[in-house]
Amino acid sequence: MSRPVNAPTVHLVGAGPGDPELLTVKAVKALRQATLALVDDLVNPGVLKYLRRGARIVHVGKRGGCASTPQAFIERLMVAEARRGERVVRLKGGDPFVFGRGGEECDALRAAGLQVEVISGLTAGMAAPAAIGVPVTDRRHTRGVIFVTGHTGEAGGEPDWPALARCGLTLVVYMGVARLPHIVQGLRAGGLAAHTPAAVVCSAHTAQQRHALCTLGSLQETVLREGLASPAIVVVGDVVQASPHWAAPGLAGAASAVEQVRLPAKHR
Ligand code: SAH
Repeated sequence: MSRPVNAPTVHLVGAGPGDPELLTVKAVKALRQATLALVDDLVNPGVLKYLRRGARIVHVGKRGGCASTPQAFIERLMVAEARRGERVVRLKGGDPFVFGRGGEECDALRAAGLQVEVISGLTAGMAAPAAIGVPVTDRRHTRGVIFVTGHTGEAGGEPDWPALARCGLTLVVYMGVARLPHIVQGLRAGGLAAHTPAAVVCSAHTAQQRHALCTLGSLQETVLREGLASPAIVVVGDVVQASPHWAAPGLAGAASAVEQVRLPAKHR
C-alpha cells in the first residue's frame, strides 16, 4: 500500500537492556519529541525521564505467562493515536526487532497507511553477556553466535536443540529460564558435553543485575539454588571462559560462581 509522504510517523524505539545510558542518541531524540509513549514492561522506568513534561505514558506489558495487553489492542491504539496527531513512540526493551514483535507492529502500522521509523536498541543477547565480560563471538572459541528463544511459540514450535548443539556456535538463549531442563536435555542429546561452559545473567544493566557461571550440566541446579529468574539471558559455549569471572567451576568442584553487581545510583 502506498503511503502519502505526509502520513504520520510512529517511532518504534529500542530502549536497550536497562541502563538509560545505553540508549542511542536517536532514541533520546525520539523520546524528547513524543507526546505519547506506549511502553513495554521490560523497559527500565529510568528511560522515561527523556520524555517531555506532559507526555502521556501507557504501559502495555507483554510478559510471557502474565496478564498483558493484547497485541491487536496495542496496534489499534498506536494507529488511532497517530492519526489523531499524537507523536507516538513505541518503546520496547532491547531492540524492537529481536524477539520484540517489532516486525508485526511495523506491518500493522504500514497496513494502516502510517510511516514507521525503527530506532535500533542494544539487545539483551549482546549486552547481558558483555555485562559479565563474555565476548560472544571471540574467535579463539567460536565462529559465531546464535540468538534463540527458549519460549515455545504460540503454535507450539520450538528450536531444534540437538541441531543447535552440533553447530559449534555460541548459543544465546532469550526467555530460557522456565524451560531450562528441556533445553539442557536437548543440547545434551545433540552431543554437547556436560562440562560446556555456561552463564546466566539476570536483569543485566539494572541495579538488580545478577549472574552465575557454571557448566551446561549444572545450569539447572545453579539457577534453582541461586534463585536466578527472568528476565535472563543464558549463554552456552566456550566463550564463557573468556569472562574474567570464570574460574573453571566444574574443575574446581564448585558448581557455580554467583555475583551481584551494584551499579552506581545514576544507573538505577
Ligand atoms: N527485544 C528484547 C528482547 C525481548 S524478549 C531485546 O532485544 O533484548 C524478553 C527476553 O529478553 C527476556 O525474557 C530475557 O531473556 C531477555 N532480556 C531482556 N532484558 C534483559 C536484561 N536486562 N537482562 C537479561 N535478559 C534480558
